[in-house]
Amino acid sequence: MSSYYDEHECPDRTPEQETNNLYLSLARMLHDLGFDAVDAALNGHSGERRPPASKHFIENLPKVNDFGKDDKCCVCLKEFTVDQTVRVGCGHRYHRLCITEWLRLNNSCPVCRTEFPTDDEEYERNKREKMRRETTLQELHNSMFS
Ligand SMILES: [Zn+2]
Ligand SMILES: [Zn+2]
Repeated sequence: MSSYYDEHECPDRTPEQETNNLYLSLARMLHDLGFDAVDAALNGHSGERRPPASKHFIENLPKVNDFGKDDKCCVCLKEFTVDQTVRVGCGHRYHRLCITEWLRLNNSCPVCRTEFPTDDEEYERNKREKMRRETTLQELHNSMFS
């Protein structure tokens, strides 16, 4: 059986160079296929997919009427109106219609980025897993440095 190098007529490389090259090609291939995780690992940013907020959450936003005359909705920049204003989990207030439109596309507060529940099981599972890992790291850190 002929060797890999003979078949592909590759110029001589050290095995180490060859390994690095293979990893790079693999990463590029996955990247081309649209693997965000690889993209994130290579570039150090999060390629996380963000689903919309959960329907139940959107439909059950508590109505508030405790706003001042000059308080404005950060989505449309207009003043609040009685019975049309709701509060999201972080305490920020918006017109019901404004925040409903927003939460159909995003799962976080437009002002402070607090995350809200979603109907996306996979996303929620990943989020829990991430939180668990962070908690474990924090505990490890505490046990070593306190
Ligand atoms: Zn508004
Ligand atoms: Zn907020």
